[in-house]
Amino acid sequence: MGENFLSPTYLILLLITITRLISTVGKTEQWKSLLLPEISNKLREDPEAIQGASRDYGNLIHDVPAGVFVPSSVQDIATLIKLSYNNNKVGDSVPFSIAARGQGHSTKGQAMARDGVVVDMARFREGGNGVGITVGGGGGKQYYADVGGEQLWIDVLRAAMEHGLTPVSWTDYLYLTVGGTLSNAGISGQTFKYGPQITSVLEMDVITGKGESVTCSKQTNSELFYAVLGGLGQFGIITRARIALEPAPKRVKWVRFLYDDFSAFTKDQERLISINGSKQKNRLDYLEGMLLMHQGPINNWRSSFFPLADHPRIISLVTQHRVLYCLEVAKYYDDQSEVNVDKELQVLFQGLSYIPGFYYEKNVSFVEFLNRVRSGELKLQSQGLWDVPHPWLNLFIPKSQILDFDSGVFKNIIHKRNITTGPALVYPMNRNKWDNKMSASIPDEDVFYAVGFLHSSGFDNWKAYDAQNREILQFCNDAGIKYKQYLPHYRTQEGWTNHFGPKWGTFSERKHQFDPRMILSPGQRIFNNN
Ligand code: FAD
Repeated sequence: MGENFLSPTYLILLLITITRLISTVGKTEQWKSLLLPEISNKLREDPEAIQGASRDYGNLIHDVPAGVFVPSSVQDIATLIKLSYNNNKVGDSVPFSIAARGQGHSTKGQAMARDGVVVDMARFREGGNGVGITVGGGGGKQYYADVGGEQLWIDVLRAAMEHGLTPVSWTDYLYLTVGGTLSNAGISGQTFKYGPQITSVLEMDVITGKGESVTCSKQTNSELFYAVLGGLGQFGIITRARIALEPAPKRVKWVRFLYDDFSAFTKDQERLISINGSKQKNRLDYLEGMLLMHQGPINNWRSSFFPLADHPRIISLVTQHRVLYCLEVAKYYDDQSEVNVDKELQVLFQGLSYIPGFYYEKNVSFVEFLNRVRSGELKLQSQGLWDVPHPWLNLFIPKSQILDFDSGVFKNIIHKRNITTGPALVYPMNRNKWDNKMSASIPDEDVFYAVGFLHSSGFDNWKAYDAQNREILQFCNDAGIKYKQYLPHYRTQEGWTNHFGPKWGTFSERKHQFDPRMILSPGQRIFNNN
């Protein structure tokens, strides 16, 4: 599984890269002759750069670009896009496509640009030439961080914490870029309370598909603002986002409960997330849930939590039930609230229907809690298991259909196929914490669940996981489950039209307005899927 560089997939990729490079060299030369002298030396065509931009975390799709652009300034990005937009004829691609690539943590080639140009935002960040991170506000006004689209959330956290501040809405893993998560939504256990990350954005600088640099917010250029948030990179490249900050707590009570009954588990999750109003003091700060299945270890890479001494009794319970459901919650506190935190949790936990005796608690620092996935990543990296294929499937399921999903998917497809490894997440969120004007597409119900199958597979067996994912989607279609994919991937125009539903008209009008020549993020395959 870890022998990535010796695998047949790797060798095939190398061959494809070389063949493509030979066939696109003519085209690239034509572009390069058009590139302004000050940016032409920023286009990389060496195999290392090309291969890096032809793969992502999914390791399943490999679209080879003609070049990789490493900007030295925001202006360079605008110049590149303008060049493509104004270009009438370059080889047989008119104009050339451009994709910003954050960390390439997508799983289905969403940050790739076949025969086009990939803008390497990671190198842009490493060169220190982007907007960086600046904390501002205060004095009675909202605190905020002005953050380059190329920045990592972990660095936003560190910079904000230096001022005793923090963003409120997170992803489980923090080594993702601001531009990348804002192009999707950015969800985690805080979403039920604060909404996804896209709702914490106050203002942005965006370079549109016409190469124009535009500052946008809810008040100014609002159409672009709403388009870009959750917009899958279709309308512009985010070069700066202003993120709202709040005072940071110091520590976190982090609790897990085990359930053997899905209906009791979801009922408790739903009750806990119903306490979410800003005036309701006694509310949680984070709520997620996951499946524990007999195929996998009970502590997975996303977090090790259960004490070793308890593993045998948990494993025996999993073996008995085949699947357990783990409710995970957290409450933040600081010096002032420390005296009350246990009491408040006790009140909240009254009446929960977990299996008696299967309650686990940890007390950790705020940063340790938010950065909980990192140690698992480093461990996998050291074992060569991070760069394996990741045939992930992420869905939003309406609350009214989550029990049908449980019986059809968790209790049937997953049991039958018996291959699921890696984390499987299930947790609810409140629709009223999302902003429907933004591009992100979610189910039309007050409460809906995020369900994530975060598989790692070998190079030789990823197709079995892919087949399972397809069977799950087929089951949902047949059962009339009105799901939406998160981090979506569709192969047909019809798939995209259904995905956006009533928002499709607005989405495609905005595309024609802000990227009329269909230049940006072609790897999403929304407007170029034939
Ligand atoms: P990329 O994959 O590089 O890009 C994603 C898309 O955004 C592409 O279409 C790209 O062209 C576009 N894009 C990139 N930068 C910009 C920019 N500056 N302006 C405009 N468009 C841009 N997601 C969650 O919501 N919650 C989680 O808890 C979570 N956990 C994860 C854990 C792991 C280990 C991994 C690998 C992913 C996780 N994700 C999670 C998914 C993550 O949000 C997506 O992969 C997302 O795309 C961010 O990754 P990235 O920054 O590498 O962006």
